[in-house]
Amino acid sequence: MAGQRAAQVGDGAQRLHRDGARAKGEEVIAAVGPALRTGDAGRELEGAPDDTPQIAKGNSPGSGRRSRLGRVSSTAAQRREALKAVLAEARGCTRCPELARTRSTVVFGSGNADAELMFVGEAPGRNEDLQGLPFVGQAGQLLDRLLGEIGLARSDVFINNVLNCRPPGNRDPQPAEIEHCQDFLFRKIELVQPSMIVTLGNFATKLLRQDTTGVMRLHGRPEVRVVGTRAVRLYPVFHPAAALYTPANVDVLREDFARIPELLALGAPEQPQAEAVEPEPPAAAEAEPEPSLQLGLF
Ligand code: SF4
Repeated sequence: MAGQRAAQVGDGAQRLHRDGARAKGEEVIAAVGPALRTGDAGRELEGAPDDTPQIAKGNSPGSGRRSRLGRVSSTAAQRREALKAVLAEARGCTRCPELARTRSTVVFGSGNADAELMFVGEAPGRNEDLQGLPFVGQAGQLLDRLLGEIGLARSDVFINNVLNCRPPGNRDPQPAEIEHCQDFLFRKIELVQPSMIVTLGNFATKLLRQDTTGVMRLHGRPEVRVVGTRAVRLYPVFHPAAALYTPANVDVLREDFARIPELLALGAPEQPQAEAVEPEPPAAAEAEPEPSLQLGLF
């Protein structure tokens, strides 16, 4: 069993690097274009009914929206520039008055801006709010460990949250806040163009599935969903912070993580037909210096 898992881990990691050599940040981003992502279009998950892909175009948040980026024609470099413009916009966002008033920083996300694999958590906590980076506390250390066990590092993936700002006292995100911030998340998904999104916990799972079914029931069950304008392999798992509270759940989380390489190896699902739109020039970034901690890995 251990040997089988090791083989899967190796294969998955090799594929991640072979298909896009995505581990080296900006230099790689400039070299990787959308064409690399289309080679596996149309391949679907195989196996048990639970793994059957479901293209749920009708109920995805943002479905039917026109791409803001002219997705097919935008290059990785253009998408990265556009992502920086969205970051600049988020840094000035006050849509959630309480969060805007109490936050130290906007935690936009970090990692490879051209990653095949995106993680979506819940919201920044105290450490994240202070450092401006997602998953830097104990839960982040567990996430790093689990990534390492499947042959990946943070620089291979893109990590972000449902909310960009910390709810005071680490309370749950409120529905209005999720509604306000979801546009940022969908734009990040549209720009990073992951083939697979791992939702960490209930909030991300419910938002991206547009369904109230909880992660307890859904964890470890991959499906193909259209999220915003992209079809992705959606894979719910427990939130690392919740797993820390219940040690037995760390083993469940580890087992679910062990499947990530084989799911990544399936490649990108078939994409919905994109409307032909003219790419918009990225909005001018504000004169403020780049938040290097977050952009350093883009
Ligand atoms: S959580 Fe999102 S929508 Fe709300 S203030 Fe922060 S960036 Fe804006």
